[in-house]
Amino acid sequence: MNTKFVFITGGVVSSLGKGIIAASLGKLLQARGLKVTIQKFDPYINIDPGTLNPYEHGECFVTDDGAETDLDLGHYERFLGVPTSQANNVTTGRIYHTVITREREGAYLGKTVQIVPHITDEIKRRMLLLGQSGEYDVVLTEIGGTVGDMESQPFVEAMRQLQWELPDGDCMCIHLTLVPYLSAAHEIKTKPTQHSVQMLQHAGVMPDVIVCRTEHPLGADLKRKIALFCNVKPGHVIESLDAWSIYQVPLNMHAEHLDELVVRKLGIENFNAPDLTRWKDFLDNLRNPKETINVALVGKYVALQDAYKSIQESFVHAGAACGCKVKVHSILSDDVTADNVAEKLKGMDGVLVAPGFGERGLEGKIHAIHYIRENGIPFLGICLGMQMCVAEYARNVLGWADASSTELNPNTTHPVIDLMEEQKKTKLKGGTMRLGAYECKLKKDSLAYKIYGTETIQERHRHRYEFNGKYAEDFAKGGLVASGTNPKTGLVEVVELPTHPFFVGVQFHPEYKSTPERPSPLFKAFIQASLDNAKKRK
Ligand code: GLN
Repeated sequence: MNTKFVFITGGVVSSLGKGIIAASLGKLLQARGLKVTIQKFDPYINIDPGTLNPYEHGECFVTDDGAETDLDLGHYERFLGVPTSQANNVTTGRIYHTVITREREGAYLGKTVQIVPHITDEIKRRMLLLGQSGEYDVVLTEIGGTVGDMESQPFVEAMRQLQWELPDGDCMCIHLTLVPYLSAAHEIKTKPTQHSVQMLQHAGVMPDVIVCRTEHPLGADLKRKIALFCNVKPGHVIESLDAWSIYQVPLNMHAEHLDELVVRKLGIENFNAPDLTRWKDFLDNLRNPKETINVALVGKYVALQDAYKSIQESFVHAGAACGCKVKVHSILSDDVTADNVAEKLKGMDGVLVAPGFGERGLEGKIHAIHYIRENGIPFLGICLGMQMCVAEYARNVLGWADASSTELNPNTTHPVIDLMEEQKKTKLKGGTMRLGAYECKLKKDSLAYKIYGTETIQERHRHRYEFNGKYAEDFAKGGLVASGTNPKTGLVEVVELPTHPFFVGVQFHPEYKSTPERPSPLFKAFIQASLDNAKKRK
């Protein structure tokens, strides 16, 4: 069978959840026994989202191979349970960079370099790339942005050309739209959908299926009306009602026959019903928690939910695995002071101190960790959170009053967290951090080893600063144990406090690898410790 290509576009408004629909369809096809990957094409000019503030574009997701990518790749990995890579996320910036670099090399000598065909050719090359590996039966491609945006036009044009070039039945387009409900008129409105499909048709693309996001059921008549006006077959209009959890969406899409339509349209002879046993087990656990626990997320980007997407999802996975609902309380680290910390963290069963960059909010994180450490509250510090627990320990236990990370105070007398050696030479900001999966060796008698159940682990990274090895002995003597290190460089990846019920800081990001079917061991242990703490407090 040829590799099949499914394109997913969006219309009417942004933030419709194209990523979730793509991931849900991917999940269903995979559960039918097909090999699936999902890629995202983003219309912005940045080479990747690594240089964006999380408030601009949500979390930056990091892959095993060290790509800084769109947060939708996190959804793809969480739903499919298979890793993505740099090839799964392409931006306009990356496309242009490739074409312009080639132009300078003389690849187009004598020719005018143009959007069509040069930019669209490069887009098409990348759209087909993963399919050529022979690894996949189906490649799903999510086109970022909204149809009609000036920025996504070349992507839509490339998709049109591919639909024309690929053999019949190897390619299809699913268009996701919003069908709003006007409460004043008590009416569901289909006009925006009609217009957005017209826009797509203007560009020469005929959608095969329309998925309608809606707050109210559409009913057969409205579905038929949309099909008629948008020129798709009756039955090819799918209702996507707001779901109680994003993880319910694959089941909803299956109930609407989305996967069946797709395999039929693509001529895939696959009549297996999707096997979603493990997924449903997870959903059952998620729906029926026995307890509720309160966990604080202390960070500087808490105003935007998407800024810590993978952490939020890891809580969901770990909560389901531990049989509890994790109520996450976002606390802006900038607001935490020595005087108000007890009030801010009141009632919290566990506290996670988040990753981050720059000096804002760092002192607040240190105050929070001081309180958590002294009051035996379960603590998980990720990346910057780990670095701040080292600074806190240095200040308040080892007695080095101005100990700090040089990211916060370049003139500290005790730079317990310092810029990594190779980073000192780095001037460029894009893609130059220590990125991607690295090995970490855990000490046999440590809590980290107990949690992971193995000596060697692989977790993903995204940082420039590190634990300063110069002080390793002082910390060891003072009671903060470096329980995980990189076997090649000796870089400290995990610190823990054996005298505390649960106090773990990790330089890596366990949240990037957590999935519903395979929750992060570290998050699971942290949530279990928070649950134990909640029971004890009761
Ligand atoms: N700013 C810190 C560093 O660069 C931490 C990064 C992070 O939390 N991802 O090392």
